[in-house]
Amino acid sequence: MAQRFQLGDNVKIAIIGAGAAGLIAAKNLRDIGLFQVEVFEELDSVGGTWIYQEDLSTTGYFQSSMYRDLHTNLPKEIMGFLDFPFDDSFDASSFPSHQVVLNYLVSFCRNFRLYELIRFRCFVRNISKLEENGSIRWDVTIYDSRRQQEDKKRYDAVVVCNGHYTKPFIPKIPGSDWFSRPIIHSHFYKTPEPFCKLRVAVLGAGNSGVDISYEIRRVASKVSLCHRKCAVRKTLSDNLEECPTIEYLDKDGKVYLADKSTLQVDVLLLCTGYEYDFPFLDSSCEVSVQDNVVFPVYRHLIHAKYPTMSFVGLPIRILPFPLFDYQTRYLAAVYRGRCELPSCDKMLAEQQQQISLLESKGCKKYYHFFADKQWEYCRELADLADGPTLSCAVQQVYEDAAKFRKKEPEKYRRRKYVIYGKGPKDWRVFENQVDVTL
Ligand SMILES: Cc1cc2nc3c(=O)[nH]c(=O)nc-3n(C[C@H](O)[C@H](O)[C@H](O)COP(=O)(O)OP(=O)(O)OC[C@H]3O[C@@H](n4cnc5c(N)ncnc54)[C@H](O)[C@@H]3O)c2cc1C
Repeated sequence: MAQRFQLGDNVKIAIIGAGAAGLIAAKNLRDIGLFQVEVFEELDSVGGTWIYQEDLSTTGYFQSSMYRDLHTNLPKEIMGFLDFPFDDSFDASSFPSHQVVLNYLVSFCRNFRLYELIRFRCFVRNISKLEENGSIRWDVTIYDSRRQQEDKKRYDAVVVCNGHYTKPFIPKIPGSDWFSRPIIHSHFYKTPEPFCKLRVAVLGAGNSGVDISYEIRRVASKVSLCHRKCAVRKTLSDNLEECPTIEYLDKDGKVYLADKSTLQVDVLLLCTGYEYDFPFLDSSCEVSVQDNVVFPVYRHLIHAKYPTMSFVGLPIRILPFPLFDYQTRYLAAVYRGRCELPSCDKMLAEQQQQISLLESKGCKKYYHFFADKQWEYCRELADLADGPTLSCAVQQVYEDAAKFRKKEPEKYRRRKYVIYGKGPKDWRVFENQVDVTL
């Protein structure tokens, strides 16, 4: 049986994290006007991932994986939240630096008066579930590092927005125990200089693997970008090659590849992604992560057993800020009682079914990978929440930028996108001021 899930007036909602997901969750839930929203942020500023931390050894639990020279890999013209365009007043380029994105998030926060909802330097240590007068509540234990004090507060709902780029996924590569060269995860990559004149093997050719390979090649003697989709070694430019994936590591920096060829390297850089991690959810929350799938979540968002707990930003390979916006508008509509949820059993069964299907194809770990399916997902949420829909122009620009990023990983950021409407053709792309829209 479907459930209309209405939280009463004046309910208290805790949001964990003041990155992009936590900020838009705070805005959309506060804007309903019925809920008391409080955001807990471990750091002393907003922005999460977009805060560049040069020295990770001195920071607390949250460590940003941002690197010094990073520029966005998506055009800023499509990156912004729905009510706050990321326009040229922030930066003229379509692919600005991380600092510009951070400035955007700070402006967003000021513009919508979100600062008053955020408690900085408050690290959420524990969340546990309890039953009170027949309703589920959440006890949130916070450590306030300014006052050096622990507090416990009770909430009617909890929105988890702690990000998922802090716990590196380290693959088990045979030989890594005796490999005598440094093995570093991209999470700790900050600048190319330490790789000067070195022979570097990079494992993984996702966005970070490709981007970092091109950065490092400016100073390294050689960069070998190893990944599963490459069958034979190919030279990409003078000191950058693409290679099959790594099979095992030997002593003295020898790396064996899937095509049985070898590399001699000075350092191995793992660009192998991250794992979901919710160290503050205790067992009473009944949340687990198996093979990089968060369970049990309905629509990758709402705890299927206890819908007053939700997770914003789980999907990967997406247009993040707009998708977080759609998720939290939908969440607000659910908590306000405007959208029905299926019964708990139905929500659990739906996720289980989707996972079983992927398991049968051997790709369960890609459950939260969206890519093409993000458009239908966002449009469905927009429809349910009765909000603005995602425009065809945004989708077209995303797809065009992705295509060109793949084709020209070093040049794609020179392009400038202009969107002037919502239709599929209402955008242009310029290169050296020449219109190159297909
Ligand atoms: C290298 C890299 C490049 C990227 N490039 C792009 C790009 O070009 N365009 C784009 O749109 N997206 C990009 N992304 C994706 C980016 O991560 C998202 O856009 C977005 O910033 C994620 O926001 P979030 O709020 O989910 O997580 P985060 O930004 O990670 O924020 C999580 C927040 O939660 C806080 N927190 C965590 N645990 C606790 C706790 N226990 N108590 C209190 N606070 C806590 C953290 O301090 C942090 O502030 C990139 C990501 C990476 C890693």
